[in-house]
Amino acid sequence: MEKIPYEKPTISKINAGVPDKFGMSSGLKPISHIDGQNIETLLSEYGSPLYILSEQNIRDTYQSARGAFESRYPKVQFAWSYKTNYLNAVCNTFHQEGAWAEVVSGFEYEKAIANGVSGNKIIFNGPDKSREELGLAIENESLIHIDHLDEYYDIVSITKESGKKAKVAIRINMDTGIYPKWVRFGLNLENGEAWSMINKIMQEPAMELMGLHTHIGTYIMAPSAYAIAAEKLAYLAVRIEHKYNHHIQYIDLGGGFASKNTLKGAYLPGSDTCPTFDEYAEAITTALQNSDIKYDRMPTLILETGRALIDDAGYLAGTVLANKFLPDGRKALVIDIGLNLLFTSFWYEHYVVPTKETPVQLEDTTIYGPLCMNIDVVREAIKFPLLDKGDHVVISRIGAYNMSQWLQFIKYRPKVVMIDTEGNTHIIRQNEDHSTMNALDKVPEHLVKHDL
Ligand SMILES: *Cc1c(COP(=O)(O)O)cnc(C)c1O
Repeated sequence: MEKIPYEKPTISKINAGVPDKFGMSSGLKPISHIDGQNIETLLSEYGSPLYILSEQNIRDTYQSARGAFESRYPKVQFAWSYKTNYLNAVCNTFHQEGAWAEVVSGFEYEKAIANGVSGNKIIFNGPDKSREELGLAIENESLIHIDHLDEYYDIVSITKESGKKAKVAIRINMDTGIYPKWVRFGLNLENGEAWSMINKIMQEPAMELMGLHTHIGTYIMAPSAYAIAAEKLAYLAVRIEHKYNHHIQYIDLGGGFASKNTLKGAYLPGSDTCPTFDEYAEAITTALQNSDIKYDRMPTLILETGRALIDDAGYLAGTVLANKFLPDGRKALVIDIGLNLLFTSFWYEHYVVPTKETPVQLEDTTIYGPLCMNIDVVREAIKFPLLDKGDHVVISRIGAYNMSQWLQFIKYRPKVVMIDTEGNTHIIRQNEDHSTMNALDKVPEHLVKHDL
């Protein structure tokens, strides 16, 4: 008979079959498969850790979001927020579904062009657009969302040189009852800054005012905040019509819909508290339809939804490296997934589970990543079963931001695979290795040799 490994005795309340404070039975349900693919097989084939994306989930989520808006409003256009996940396969999945590109830097702009998005379907946001980038965007007839006055002057001077008209919108920040207010981006509504900019643009023959834009924040749990934003932008649109007899083509309400992840410190799990796409859509489209904009002049509603469209499609699978007991007796697990790959663990209580059935006994555990850095904590406190070195875990709802905010710190970044709608697996990004990392380094001649 095999020797059973020693485990420190603990005293805990018997809670088998008893619901916890959320009414759910306690215990962790393992996740062994994603879209029919065995996670352990994927790990042995592609290495650990591994990012896994479900194409089916991306398409289903997109279609349900689009359906929620299109069933309520005649003209709806999504634009994929590149920074949320800019792997080309992901962007192209959204482009195949009909989403335009929303970019916030020259790098992302180049990516969208290389992905074959035509210039007039790229929304160019962000506070940092160089003259060269603005020139290119004007040339390509992209939609430039002006962030500040200096950018306005840059565009004016570029159009003077090129003689080509710029298609612009302005980014507006405002009070929607969400605090802290995001006032650092765009022009303020309440102090009149936004209206002054509109007047400037309307009097500038080299610019065409296409739309009005706001992005009120991220992980916004209140659909009513979007209703306020939509109402305020619609009011501005009517004011522009009165003063200039000019009809803007779109109102862009940015991104920010919450995903089902649970924020740190939240009492209830995010999957219970996150509004549905229908709730957001109802709030926004009702506000637009009840505005003073005439029915035959309704602007296109643009949405730059990021995290809510991709979070659920992403998984991060990994391996247990070690079990430890901390000096105060708490249990700790070290896994090969850390902050470098899971930047969102700063904000979220990520849902971590084993890939196979485990003993029912759960213990308070801290889950650490593999980095030699004190803040590398995946879960501060989670009730977790005993796993052995070499066992596997999977973290769900990690599709948003982790594959763009990842850090090349201490370790190479691993492969990303996507399971297509037929159940076939594709590598959509290769892992880094020594040659990738060394490719950009240069060593001056006098530092090439040493005598060690
Ligand atoms: C980041 C960003 C988005 C996407 O935000 P989510 O919160 O991920 O939906 C959309 N628009 C702009 C301008 C952004 O900066």
